[in-house]
Amino acid sequence: MSLLSIRNLSVTYGGGVRAVDGIDLDVSAGEVVGLAGESGCGKSTLALAVTRLLPPGATSAADEMAFAGQDLRSIGGADLRALRWRRLSLVFQGAMNGFNPVMTIGDQIREAIRAHEPGTDRKALRLRVAELLTQVGIASGRADDYPHQLSGGMKQRAMIAMALACRPDLVIADEPTTALDVMTQAQILELIRRLADELGLAMLIISHDLTVLAELCDQVAVMYAGRIVERGPAEQILSSASRPAHPYTRRLLDCYPRLDAGQRSISGIPGSPPDLAHPPTGCRFADRCVDKLARCATDDPALRPVPGGATHVAACHLVGVPA
Ligand code: ADP
Ligand code: MG
Repeated sequence: MSLLSIRNLSVTYGGGVRAVDGIDLDVSAGEVVGLAGESGCGKSTLALAVTRLLPPGATSAADEMAFAGQDLRSIGGADLRALRWRRLSLVFQGAMNGFNPVMTIGDQIREAIRAHEPGTDRKALRLRVAELLTQVGIASGRADDYPHQLSGGMKQRAMIAMALACRPDLVIADEPTTALDVMTQAQILELIRRLADELGLAMLIISHDLTVLAELCDQVAVMYAGRIVERGPAEQILSSASRPAHPYTRRLLDCYPRLDAGQRSISGIPGSPPDLAHPPTGCRFADRCVDKLARCATDDPALRPVPGGATHVAACHLVGVPA
């Protein structure tokens, strides 16, 4: 059963920028789902809408947005605060630089627990902080360190410990490795996968780097210009045998060198995503697509099943057409 269930979610910012446009997404209990796409395609906006943290001026609408049976569209006040930490927690993009510089790491994790589980006694708090730090691979003695005493990778680990403080069922991590070097990235990804497996956590991992998600996730969804253009089991979308079905996913995959495939140069996709205040009528990727057909400029493709994969879908007119 779905833990998080989203149907037809749209988010519009002031000025008519529709950053998320009619998205469906499911995360099942214990499942690790990756959300990929170039910068500006609406990934963070989706995370903020789900956690109800959109800035003032942004409006959202959905046919369904539910977490463990609770309607996220109408939840408010104390219920929302309780839900956010204890069941569903979000690690913001760039959050590792958001630690309070004048408080120790241990105190900040303790504060988070105390705020949401008042009445936890001092000894239990100390033990819980030590346990959390150990879980994320930080020696418990470093609870007394200040943020500036930790490396980038350690800060990101501490941020993950913070997200786990109240034992949530789902953690949404927005670009958890973006600011880190390649070695540290790999270590953090390994940690995330291990935590998901050991704690039975569900995770939604957001990254502009599809290769990062390939090795980590059970399911992958690819976003382009506010829409999901391809979704399915990671091994099906990313295995070298069955290349991705959507031309955008293929280009995205070619953008970054695979950690296991020696050196390849990092290249961008030529052109840029459309203006989300005035999206084109046909396929939103048509302008930049090397495989486009005449109808792509006028006819907006819906998600459709990719032959050979029961749950693999892609929004491209070429899907199912013999080469
Ligand atoms: P991503 O996380 O995929 O990089 P975002 O969700 O941050 O994408 O942004 C999606 C689109 O929404 C972009 O065009 C961005 O400029 C716009 N946007 C993001 N935040 C705001 C905001 N607070 N006000 C107006 N537009 C915004
Ligand atoms: Mg973002």
